[in-house]
Amino acid sequence: MKINKTIREKLEKEGYRIIGSHSAIKVCLWCKNALRDKGVCYKNTFYGIESWRCIQMSCSLLNCTSRCLHCWRDIRYTEAKKVNEPEEPKKIVDGCIKAQKEILQGFKGTSKTNIQRFKEAMNPKHFALSLAGESFFYPLLAELIDEIHKRGMTSFLVSNGQLPEKIKKLEVQPTQFYISLNAPNKKIYQKMCRSLFKDAWERLNKSLEIMPTLNTRKVLRMTLVRDLNMTGHGNYARLIKKAAPDFIEVKGYMSVGFARQRLGYDRMPNYNEVKDFAKKIAALTKTKILDEKIDSRVFLLGKNKENMKIII
Ligand code: SF4
Repeated sequence: MKINKTIREKLEKEGYRIIGSHSAIKVCLWCKNALRDKGVCYKNTFYGIESWRCIQMSCSLLNCTSRCLHCWRDIRYTEAKKVNEPEEPKKIVDGCIKAQKEILQGFKGTSKTNIQRFKEAMNPKHFALSLAGESFFYPLLAELIDEIHKRGMTSFLVSNGQLPEKIKKLEVQPTQFYISLNAPNKKIYQKMCRSLFKDAWERLNKSLEIMPTLNTRKVLRMTLVRDLNMTGHGNYARLIKKAAPDFIEVKGYMSVGFARQRLGYDRMPNYNEVKDFAKKIAALTKTKILDEKIDSRVFLLGKNKENMKIII
């Protein structure tokens, strides 16, 4: 679906900045917080990503395979189709950097802003390809990642694992590759992720099987929703074993944005519920809790702390 005038105006009111015909950025809350010395995101805590130098973007804004209940985006407009008339990666990267720097000008000259971080933010160092949509629907994804890396920046790519063939063929790997693992079985997966593909569960499993073959850092992200997907620890452990990730992020669901209309605050597991779940998964996958970030209710599981931090 083209980003028509109505959708564009609506998204811009929500803080998106549309780049070309199918990409966008939205300055992340943690980027803003970091500029005001009000905390950093858990990717900083776990991996050393400088939140204030991060560009949260999408190269396939309205192209997604799923309509997840826990998704904070407005998913009424997405379609499970590849991006038609894909734009050049260079143009997208240029556009994202320009828009980010323009928006952050608002932080200049206020006493609350950390000036050193503001200066650094004018030289972004990280692309989070996780704003919205499924990035593998953008046919020039490898070239986009290559363009980001050529400029000395890192890239985190989050996928819902619904396009295994594309994952397998990706010629340039991101700095860190994520697959979302939000269900222990087919029934809960369909209920939680509402994929537009009939063989959604099989597609996810295929992607998990491909994960060990990828030559990059691999992470499974689990978003826990109370009374929905916090069961089947044994099944989760089998799926995790299949993917053999470097790290597992176990994160409590956040009832924010448009997700509030689907899953209320009562579905947000508290810190102890998430911790108990993380401990059980760690025991079943012979991993351990390497770190946590309390305000984000997220735990990092892995074998050892050695390779946690990303050094570029
Ligand atoms: S890494 Fe993610 S959470 Fe952290 S600043 Fe970037 S978009 Fe936000």
